[in-house]
Amino acid sequence: MRIDVVSIFPEYLAPLELSLIGKARQDGLVELNVHDLRTFTTDKHRTVDDTPYGGGAGMVMKPEPWAQALESVAGVREGTKPVLIVPSPAGERFTQALAYELAEEEQLVFACGRYEGIDERVIDWAQEHFTVRPVSLGDYVLNGGEVAVLAMVEAIGRLLPGVVGNPESLVEESHSDGLLEYPVYTKPSSWRDHEVPPVLLSGNHGKIAQWRRHEQFRRTAERRPDLLDNFDAGQLSRADRNALADLGYNVVDGRLRRRMESNTAQQTR
Ligand code: SAM
Repeated sequence: MRIDVVSIFPEYLAPLELSLIGKARQDGLVELNVHDLRTFTTDKHRTVDDTPYGGGAGMVMKPEPWAQALESVAGVREGTKPVLIVPSPAGERFTQALAYELAEEEQLVFACGRYEGIDERVIDWAQEHFTVRPVSLGDYVLNGGEVAVLAMVEAIGRLLPGVVGNPESLVEESHSDGLLEYPVYTKPSSWRDHEVPPVLLSGNHGKIAQWRRHEQFRRTAERRPDLLDNFDAGQLSRADRNALADLGYNVVDGRLRRRMESNTAQQTR
C-alpha cells in the first residue's frame, strides 16, 4: 500500500517511523510519504490560510496550495482514483469496519486540516480525481488532522498482510466481530491477592473458549450496550443465547433486545 499524508506539521507524523508501522515501512510493506503543504505555496510567506468569507472566527485553509499538493502527491493519473481521506469532525465515523475496507486500497492520501478546516471547494474539486471520504475519529474536536491520521494509519496499517506477526491476533480483537475482547491475563497466576480466573489454568480449551465468549458478552453489555443493539443475532449459538439471557438479553426478530427489569425479575423467579 502507498500512503501520502499532507500536513503543515510534517514532524507531527514522526511516530509513524516507530514500532510496527515503522518496521512495515522498512520492510517495504507500506510506502509512506509525508509532505509539507507549505512547499506548495507560491508567496514568500508560504501562506496556507486566510479569513473566512461571510465573517466569523478563525481562519480557513486556502484552496490553491491544497490543489497543488494533492495533484503532485497523488500523481493524478487517467483512470485511477486514489482514496482521499479528509479528517474532519463532520465526517463519517472511523470504525474497525472502515479500517478493513481502507486496508484493501492500493493508495490512500490523507489531507490534514488545521484552523477552521479546508476551503470546501477543494473537497468538491477533488471528487474528480479521488474517491473523497471525510472521516471523523470521534465526536470531539481536535486542533488538526494529524492525530486522526496517526490513529487511522496505525489501525489500517496493522491489517495489511505481514505487518502483525501473528495474523490470528487480529481475529479475536475488540470490534472484529461486533463485540469487545475478553479480559486477558499473564503470569504470575496470583498477584497482590488478585487471582487469574481458574478456568484459564484448567487446560480445558472448550471451557476456556466458552468463558471467553461469555466475557465478551458481559463486557460489551456493561461498557458498550450500543454494540449489542446492532449485533446480528443470526450468528449466535445456543450457548451464546443462554449466556446473553443471563445478562438480560433476548433475541427478538433477529436482534438482541434488553429485557425490561420487571420482565427479568419475573423470569428469574
Ligand atoms: N471547524 C471545524 C468543525 O467544526 O467541523 C473543526 C476544525 S478543527 C479545529 C481543525 C482540523 O482538525 C479539522 O479540519 C480536521 O482536520 C481535524 N479534526 C478535528 N477534529 C477531528 C475529528 N474528530 N476527527 C478527525 N479530524 C478532526
